[in-house]
Amino acid sequence: MKFGTKTIHAGQQADPTTGAVMTPIYQTSTYKQASPGDFKGYEYSRTGNPTRNALEQNLAALENGKFGLCFGSGLAAIDSIIKLLKPGDEVISTNDLYGGTYRIFNNIFEPFGIKFHFVGMDDSEKIESLINKNTKMLWAETPTNPMLNIIDIEKLGHISKKHNLTFVVDNTFATPFLQRPLDMGADIIMHSLTKYMGGHSDVVMGAAICKDEKLAERLFAIQNSCGAVPGPQDSFLVLRGIKTLHLRMQRHCENGKVIANFLKTHPKVGDVYWPGLEDHPNHDIAKKQMDDFGGMVSFNLKGNKLEDAIKLVSTTHYFTLAESLGGVESLIGHPASMTHAAIPKEVREKTGVVDTLIRLSVGVEDIEDLVNDLKMALDSL
Ligand SMILES: *Cc1c(COP(=O)(O)O)cnc(C)c1O
Repeated sequence: MKFGTKTIHAGQQADPTTGAVMTPIYQTSTYKQASPGDFKGYEYSRTGNPTRNALEQNLAALENGKFGLCFGSGLAAIDSIIKLLKPGDEVISTNDLYGGTYRIFNNIFEPFGIKFHFVGMDDSEKIESLINKNTKMLWAETPTNPMLNIIDIEKLGHISKKHNLTFVVDNTFATPFLQRPLDMGADIIMHSLTKYMGGHSDVVMGAAICKDEKLAERLFAIQNSCGAVPGPQDSFLVLRGIKTLHLRMQRHCENGKVIANFLKTHPKVGDVYWPGLEDHPNHDIAKKQMDDFGGMVSFNLKGNKLEDAIKLVSTTHYFTLAESLGGVESLIGHPASMTHAAIPKEVREKTGVVDTLIRLSVGVEDIEDLVNDLKMALDSL
């Protein structure tokens, strides 16, 4: 099955009892047993629910994995994946990590005795120098947020294999439409389904996907024992969202390209970050491992005046000022005062998060309206 067919068919059949073509929302916590232990595959909805399971199988197929597991949020998925580890274990991760991931690693799991190292993941020597007998996991995110750096997944896959580590890739920004890390040496894919996969900014959910049966058994045990599962209604919404993933992503990429090129020509704009631009520092890796370059675009303003950035993000009309990304609607964000406000100015500026850095989640609206919206706001500065 090809990708676009999988989005619509994988894991889903007409409902055996009624013939309903769309997977019903099985809004039930429990299931009738004919005699004790004699049930039809489902006994309790924390352990398994048909709507959730359809979504889990669909996700496994999209990522070229075998097993999918859904969680109440992206962070709940991360929480469950880190619970594969035990006190004393060490994790090597990128220094350009989603803020919520950094927070759960440092504030929640460090006190339980798990040690996290944050490094620039383009530096293989640095990664290898940190590996010792306690190192158990590599954790990468690519493209990164908000600087849209690209990390070479295949290269990390080799390092991970050589040292027998579990290699996790947060595939939220790219989605399996653009890259499939399990094919490049990753062991577990993590998703915030809240973003592109759900695609309509109407649900919060996460997932873990893998190929290895032992790893899947352990993750299933954690999912069932810790219980951070999503409900059937939300599972239905994400299943429905995924049916148009390939169509939406195609348009996100087309619109992202036009916006990135428009920004490059505008006199008020400084640097533009989009992995599809030939002058992007990791353009070659992006070309190698991604099928297209996505709809996330970041840029800064010439002169770097904070008040210009504040005015810009408050002036756009179709680009709504809000957290999050990946929905059909365009969003605009100001990392220095929003997602990255907790990071000291000198630290964030070193990674490129200057006062006028602006992040766009380019939606699937008509591109003329989006360009005119940004032009109007930039011209007003
Ligand atoms: C949003 C996000 C998360 C967290 O997911 P939630 O669904 O908000 O819990 C993790 N990683 C990335 C890259 C994200 O964008």
